[in-house]
Amino acid sequence: VNAPRLVLTAAKLVDPEGETLLDCAVVIGGSLILWVGAYKDLPAEFGGTERHDLGDATLLPGLIDAHVHLSLGSEPSHADGSLVFDTTDEEELAIMLASARELVEAGVTTARDLGGRGYLALRARDATESGYSVGPRILAAGPPLTPPLGHCWFLGGEVDGVEDAKKRVQAHVAAGVDVVKVMATGGFLTPGTTPWDASFDETTLQAIVAESHKLGRRVAAHCHGVDGIRQALAAGVDTLEHCSFVEEGGGTAVDEALLDAIARSGVYISPTMNADARAMMADGWKPPVVGLWHRGARVIASTDAGIPGTPHRDYVLALVALVDAGMPDRDVLVAATVTAAEALDLHGVTGRVVAGYSADLIAVHGDPEHNIRALHDLRFVMSRGCIVQLAAR
Ligand SMILES: [Zn+2]
Repeated sequence: VNAPRLVLTAAKLVDPEGETLLDCAVVIGGSLILWVGAYKDLPAEFGGTERHDLGDATLLPGLIDAHVHLSLGSEPSHADGSLVFDTTDEEELAIMLASARELVEAGVTTARDLGGRGYLALRARDATESGYSVGPRILAAGPPLTPPLGHCWFLGGEVDGVEDAKKRVQAHVAAGVDVVKVMATGGFLTPGTTPWDASFDETTLQAIVAESHKLGRRVAAHCHGVDGIRQALAAGVDTLEHCSFVEEGGGTAVDEALLDAIARSGVYISPTMNADARAMMADGWKPPVVGLWHRGARVIASTDAGIPGTPHRDYVLALVALVDAGMPDRDVLVAATVTAAEALDLHGVTGRVVAGYSADLIAVHGDPEHNIRALHDLRFVMSRGCIVQLAAR
């Protein structure tokens, strides 16, 4: 199955956790990377394998978006639940597969879907995994767990109390979710909820995390306000989504002691940088993720793609926003590959260009280690061994 079938060659290879190679070769067999090295050192056994030369491009691991919503088409009318109510499953699945294609055409070869209606994202996951549809590797959460009428209640994940929450986690796992998403605070897009208030009591949140971990699933916690962030951290969630320190009225009030505690804990920060974040930064907002990064916190790249104004194709803008906010280009590249793979429990699978890893690769023109904007100049994408046909540009 994994017989060598293609040798990719390029002027340069950047593996964010390894060494940079010049005049490199990457041998692909099936969906895996079989060998990586300098082309002049290519073992004789691969000598007769078809060669695909990427010229002066730089090869990199495929990129990871740790927070997307495939079913949201980034139209304003979708955010209040109308899309969810008004579409059939078939229509929604078609939207999801179109979103998946947008992601992979932007260089994203792994995307974590953190919430949609029912278990449709699992079907999108299976469609891209089987090769029926072009897209990234998808990790799917199913409907986020939320209190009655809590944030995104209309997706179908309402739970009431500890026992109900535990049953719901069990049902999610039985349905085949890869990760559990929980709404630890209200959100901006759900009328009647407030982002600065915690959603759950501590006991229920802890029960959700404990049950998920017991069943081998990581937990992603949506949290804006400081109380919800503190509760999520105490409950032992794996990724803090947004982690924006929003205070009543919508301003930002960073709690320095909590930043220290987050950095010490080793929890991953998924800051969902996107058009909203960029607009706020233009008005002088300092994203709390940068203070966390300065403290040594583990930052991963994410966008919340699908929400109004954030199409899935705009992924690279989120990385540019992190650089503009003060993170070095190279660290942002690590956040989008190695660290994100660790956070998603995909260490050893993706995020690096190493023999034995999945053949998730991109090639760009330029030097993204020193200028992340080079990722806009995408020349080649391979997702689990399949070459993605990029639209002419
Ligand atoms: Zn989201």
